[in-house]
Amino acid sequence: MLNTLRTIVQEVSAASDLQAALDIIVQRVREAMETEVCSVYLFDSDNSSYTLMATEGLNKSAIGLAKLSQSEGLIGQVGQREEPINLEEASSHPKFHYIPETGEEKFHAFLGVPIIHHRMILGVLVVQQQKRRRFDEHEEAFLVTMSAQLAGVIAHAEATGSLHVSSVNTNSIAKTARFQGSPGASGVSIGEAVVLAPAADLSVVPDRDHTDINKELAALDKALEAVRNEMRNTAAKLSGRLPEEERALFDVYIRMLDDNALGKEIRNRIHEGNWAAGALRQVIQEHVQNFELMDDAYLRERAVDVKDLGRRVLASLQQDEQKNIEYPDNIILISEELTASMLADVPHNKLAGLVSVRGSSNSHAAILARALGIPTVMGVVELPYHKLTGKPMIVDGNLGIAYVSPSRELLEHYQVVVEEEREFTKGLEAISDLACVTPDHFRVPLWVNTGLMTDTVRSLDRGAEGVGLYRTEVPFMLRERFPSESEQEKIYRQQLEAFAPRPVTMRTLDIGGDKSLSYFPIKEDNPFLGWRGIRVTLDHPEIFLVQVRAMLKASVGLDNLRIMLPMITNVFEVEEALHLIHRAHAEVLSEGLPVMMPPVGVMIEVPAAVYQVRELARRVDFLSIGSNDLTQYLLAVDRNNPRVAGLYNSFHPAVLQALQKVVEDSHREGKTIGICGEMAGDPVAAVLLMAMGFDMLSMSATNLLKVKWALRKITMKRAKEILAEVTKLDNAMVIRSSLELALCRDGLGKVLGIKSKRFKSNEETSK
Ligand code: PEP
Ligand code: MG
Repeated sequence: MLNTLRTIVQEVSAASDLQAALDIIVQRVREAMETEVCSVYLFDSDNSSYTLMATEGLNKSAIGLAKLSQSEGLIGQVGQREEPINLEEASSHPKFHYIPETGEEKFHAFLGVPIIHHRMILGVLVVQQQKRRRFDEHEEAFLVTMSAQLAGVIAHAEATGSLHVSSVNTNSIAKTARFQGSPGASGVSIGEAVVLAPAADLSVVPDRDHTDINKELAALDKALEAVRNEMRNTAAKLSGRLPEEERALFDVYIRMLDDNALGKEIRNRIHEGNWAAGALRQVIQEHVQNFELMDDAYLRERAVDVKDLGRRVLASLQQDEQKNIEYPDNIILISEELTASMLADVPHNKLAGLVSVRGSSNSHAAILARALGIPTVMGVVELPYHKLTGKPMIVDGNLGIAYVSPSRELLEHYQVVVEEEREFTKGLEAISDLACVTPDHFRVPLWVNTGLMTDTVRSLDRGAEGVGLYRTEVPFMLRERFPSESEQEKIYRQQLEAFAPRPVTMRTLDIGGDKSLSYFPIKEDNPFLGWRGIRVTLDHPEIFLVQVRAMLKASVGLDNLRIMLPMITNVFEVEEALHLIHRAHAEVLSEGLPVMMPPVGVMIEVPAAVYQVRELARRVDFLSIGSNDLTQYLLAVDRNNPRVAGLYNSFHPAVLQALQKVVEDSHREGKTIGICGEMAGDPVAAVLLMAMGFDMLSMSATNLLKVKWALRKITMKRAKEILAEVTKLDNAMVIRSSLELALCRDGLGKVLGIKSKRFKSNEETSK
């Protein structure tokens, strides 16, 4: 059964459009279940009705015509109850509604299951039979599983108009299309789409019309020849070590790349209009799918070889292509998964907005985007990004919406929003040099989170009083190998010098989770619960020691370094890390460098640490809450997963109680406690954090002035009253809205008003 399911899902995924997919579903399910009828009814939310979209066994002339309202018939009943209905005699059910066009009167047994995606009913999958009998529980389970697996594929097809990008049709998105994601970085921007694929990842190569066919054909020839040569060289190198028959495989690969084999097919696609990389993707994907559908396990495995060949040719194509991209002036950069190195590759002065298909507001790509102040939308899972190159777009990072081909009306609306934002930001610059002091004279130190050098300039311009979190993994992510001790020393020195005499908190390498180094891949089923942060560096003391030595050497004569340890879950990790830091310090001293032992702190970002704050505090000099991870681990919500992004909420009472407890326990041990998660940069949250007693708030430079503006307007007394009020509430959403309401009443609405008003127009296609 599992094999049948897998084969059907693969075939459906490979279909060229929604109708072809539905036709395959009904054919294959009918065969697999050996039943007489299989049909799919899709739900249309615009007019609240179901339409028969595909059938095997009923009259095909009824397709598109047989319709039922939302609550009509057995189909409506399955949809409303959101569970299967299994009947021996359909017509005796009180809800039965006969549709003459279908010719279904001769079928008695009925099994209908809902097709549900993200809690939304997409349609109903039905099987019917003449014989009066109940479908048995295996059959019911098969249909339910089939429907669950197909729901995602159908949802994607409905949203994008096709399942598998098999033809280039850049005009397919001609009117405003609206795609909902999560807010990544606030702000709004208008620009032109540039789609970037991660290096040599075939699955994310977009389709693109070419302008010069000869250029594409020549690029393809060059890439094919380069890979053939690579194969010949590898085969020659292995000649003494591999048996003859294994080496023969290389000849097969070389022939596959021949002008008459894959080469010819790719060339044909280029002649049809696609650029070389897109044509390559199409051809390779088709072959891979064919191999994967084969019953023979050996032949199925060959799919891997074809994929590998495709990747090699792509890598060769990309080498030339990266150098030749012509960027428009206002780039809306789109990728399936945004990475730090992509941001670095694009001319910074032209980067207007970012859209990522994967990830959510708390992914590290979003954090980087916030640091750079680039409006960003994350987790736009339905975005047909393959087709967007060159399209005009609007990125609304406040509401988490990406618009493609916006209408004139929508553009005018957003031009006003962009202008208003510009005015507001300009107005804030006036408070750059002022301290963050409440009207009743409480000082709240505002620090910044950094990672890129560009953050530094912006931070200093805005009056940052220190660095609460320097993410050292960012420079690691921008390289192709581990930076050496002296390279690291240089990078850290720049940070320390730029902020001196202000303190700079350098976090030791925090990789794993959603932060990977291309040259040190970590593949795990559960990366956020796996080898992350301090766990990696304690297992690799050589990496840790080099890094700490580089930090210490970089601080010579400046003495503004603080070292912070990420992902601490027990006291033993702190002791081991301290031991290594002392060792590195002694080594640097023995080299004759006069370095002070810097303060060492821990991040509180997992629940276990919340309950051991006092024990941890006794061993270190300071503590800092990483609210991004603390929220994810307390609520058991992967911060990177758009599917559960709606559950991720730092205003959850459990998170607020944990924060308050950590502040109190740290103070009981006489240690300072800061917070460097994204929460600190949200003016609404900052009011609560100040009332809780945090000793400093550290945030991206982009948010610093907004937070300062808000805190300079509210007294500590009032903030404490608001905290006391929301502490009584038990629901995150109610807490957030109560806070917003209270702050609006206190005249802080302006800082909350930096949200685009929702825009609705008739021509907007809501996805
Ligand atoms: C955090 O988890 O809140 C934090 C500041 O660290 P990062 O976002 O880099 O994981
Ligand atoms: Mg963290």
